[in-house]
Amino acid sequence: MNTMTTDQTAAAAADRSETETRRRKLFVKSYGCQMNVYDATRMADVLAPEGYDETSEIAEADLVILNTCHIRERASEKVFSELGKVREIKMERAAAGLATTIAVAGCVAQAEGKEILRRQKAVDLVIGPQSYHRLPEMLRLAKSGPVVETDFPVEDKFDHLASPAREKVASRGVTAFLTIQEGCDKFCTFCVVPYTRGAEMSRPVVKIVEEATHLVQAGVREITLLGQNVNAFHGLDEAGAICSLAGLVARLSHIPGLLRIRYMTSHPNDMADDLILAHRTLPALMPFLHLPVQSGSDRVLQAMNRKHCTRDYVELVARIRAQRPDIALSSDFIVGFPGETEAEFQDTLDLITQVGFASTYFFKYSMRPGTPGAEMDDQVPEDIKSERLARLQKLTDVQRHASHAAAVGQVMPVLFEKKGRHPGQIAGKTPYLQAVQVDGPAHLIGSEAMVEITGTSTNSLFGRLAERVS
Ligand code: SAM
Ligand code: SF4
Repeated sequence: MNTMTTDQTAAAAADRSETETRRRKLFVKSYGCQMNVYDATRMADVLAPEGYDETSEIAEADLVILNTCHIRERASEKVFSELGKVREIKMERAAAGLATTIAVAGCVAQAEGKEILRRQKAVDLVIGPQSYHRLPEMLRLAKSGPVVETDFPVEDKFDHLASPAREKVASRGVTAFLTIQEGCDKFCTFCVVPYTRGAEMSRPVVKIVEEATHLVQAGVREITLLGQNVNAFHGLDEAGAICSLAGLVARLSHIPGLLRIRYMTSHPNDMADDLILAHRTLPALMPFLHLPVQSGSDRVLQAMNRKHCTRDYVELVARIRAQRPDIALSSDFIVGFPGETEAEFQDTLDLITQVGFASTYFFKYSMRPGTPGAEMDDQVPEDIKSERLARLQKLTDVQRHASHAAAVGQVMPVLFEKKGRHPGQIAGKTPYLQAVQVDGPAHLIGSEAMVEITGTSTNSLFGRLAERVS
């Protein structure tokens, strides 16, 4: 917790008057998941009234924020090597008479706290993910000495985060993230999230509807609802009743102009019947579902404390496909969890073959301090993890290509998001979250049009405009 010294109070007052007269530049670099991308936009929104405009040039930034990820060791270590580079820039700017403030935000900030200041003295502020609404105040304090703010404040940060101006939202494009749920109570034995993001909490429905409406009125056409366990959402509605994720999606689907709704990341155990049904009954809810299973071995799943077995997962997928046969599924996998044998890894490959995923994300198990997994004996050697990862990649590449190839010849709505790779091209996404490049006019960006898929490459589809639908 922080208390202001007399020096800090004076610095805060001086800084407030300075804000009125001078615009400053903010550079934010985000690591990790979509929730960090969302947090980065909200930090920029909080700092805009303080006189900060975003820049993509770190060398011209008066304030550099590294918005960090702690999920795997490599993600964490990247931050410290990046901080070394930012320190150099701070010194170069100082030589030119310019001050630079360096802030470390996100889950590394939460987990490492003061240790960051010990490892990198150039850092001015360390701020955890639950305190972003206090950024202006913390930056003022940091004027007179390094500050660490990693408490979980009692007030809801979302209530204190400023709404961005319409032009700002419009400049960010036609798709947007919206965090509706944070934290996790599941305590998978490999995962730091329950420690860095805290207990599970859902935002009130009315606040989410307000934020979504604001986004759509500024031109957003697709919203992805975010949460570490998004389908565990149980926000209160205006009458004080608990609203499920399906109920929330139904509410949001009435916002005029909102064409598409997605959500991630879901836990298999929270995939309620009403949500499965919503994939059939709500046209705005896209036929794509990121539903991590992590492993195809029941012993490993149990050691991971996932609280479901492979049969539960396969049956769940069957129930989802019964309602929405064309749904595209994706999953995360961890390779080389402590004790994973060759036969157990083979079970993972078998599950992938059985289910058939449109896309997959896989990670080598990374020991995270403080988690039960880090205490387990029989850690799998790195070379075995790498070898298994390569085999997993090969299999999932085949499945991704098959899902792309199956799209060729189909006509489907594409929401155009931006200009394409080449002049005269525009780029968008199918309902199944596949990237598509099309020859077409830029004025279609922000709208859906029917596209015939004509070809594929490694990561995207190609198509031609069939008919304009909106
Ligand atoms: N809540 C989601 C779920 O339960 O599936 C996942 C959230 S986590 C931020 C994203 C992914 O990171 C996980 O699905 C898992 O595959 C991966 N992950 C988490 N901890 C990891 C670790 N210690 N080593 C490797 N991968 C990890
Ligand atoms: Fe981490 Fe997801 Fe497990 Fe929660 S459910 S502990 S966020 S992997």
